[in-house]
Amino acid sequence: MKILKNYEMNSWSNMKIGGIAENYFIVENREDLIEINQKYEKLFILGNGTNTLIGDGKLKTNFVSLEKLNKIEKIEKNIIKVEAGVDFSGLISYNKRNNYKGLENLAGIPGSLGGLVYMNGGSYGSEIFDCLISVEILDEKNKISEIKKEDLRYSYRKTEIQEKEWIILSATFLFEEGFDEAKVKELNIKRHQNHPLDLPNLGSSFKNPEGKHAVKLILEAGLMGYTVGKAQLSTKHANFIVNLGGATFNDVITLIEHVKLEVKKKTGISLEEEIVIIND
Ligand SMILES: Cc1cc2nc3c(=O)[nH]c(=O)nc-3n(C[C@H](O)[C@H](O)[C@H](O)COP(=O)(O)OP(=O)(O)OC[C@H]3O[C@@H](n4cnc5c(N)ncnc54)[C@H](O)[C@@H]3O)c2cc1C
Repeated sequence: MKILKNYEMNSWSNMKIGGIAENYFIVENREDLIEINQKYEKLFILGNGTNTLIGDGKLKTNFVSLEKLNKIEKIEKNIIKVEAGVDFSGLISYNKRNNYKGLENLAGIPGSLGGLVYMNGGSYGSEIFDCLISVEILDEKNKISEIKKEDLRYSYRKTEIQEKEWIILSATFLFEEGFDEAKVKELNIKRHQNHPLDLPNLGSSFKNPEGKHAVKLILEAGLMGYTVGKAQLSTKHANFIVNLGGATFNDVITLIEHVKLEVKKKTGISLEEEIVIIND
């Protein structure tokens, strides 16, 4: 296991904000993970950092990278086990090579497999849980178990894994045959047209309330382009907060609070953050 001391977390988060971590562990295998899970209380499992905002200054949290747990394994025909540290774009390439269908609508989400399963990430009407059949976790007793999808509670951007603070080791999928390359290309163009990919961001900042679109509510509240310090509601997609260069954690938090207040005042609807926020 590699232990990096005084690691600057702003290089990890896709928002390019974050203070100094005393310990940044890169585990080589499951035994390493079990060992540090036993030793340390305040652990945060790192994916690709595309949905996490981190506080500035000295951080008390210990961060754990699973980037070395990155195997994709065929269990049997069309049943594939994917370790948490796999980059999601790598899984899409694997599915293309093996002609597996099912995750095309999610292609372009920049997360890790672990991050996507934890968030039940999704897009264009699909979510990662659609093709999933089970998740392998390390639980609060430091025990590994495989949980079938039907035994897990999950909904839009929510999973029981979040409540229980389990660590995802791998997920197993059942895919149909017939990779839809045209769909992936079409959605890739759409993402480039609609998302501010030229600036650091964490994707959608707020969840869509039942039957509504967060972006429309933000526009209705007249907030497009609203800026605090160097954090801005993108003029390309108002639900994305972008770092214009040198934004602080407080800039982003102040912006989030302002959006929630104004949207509530103008529309009566309470927005909830989609992004994960660590501030210690
Ligand atoms: C340009 C852009 C576009 C995006 N588009 C979408 C989209 O269309 N749909 C969508 O849903 N999201 C989207 N996102 C947000 C983000 O990519 C997803 O939420 C993704 O699933 C997060 O994965 P990650 O590995 O980067 O997670 P991180 O930010 O690293 O972590 C997110 C949370 O997952 C937890 N976590 C990560 N791995 C594990 C693990 N193995 N075990 C337990 N917990 C774990 C972390 O502790 C943290 O709480 C977008 C982001 C960007 C920047």
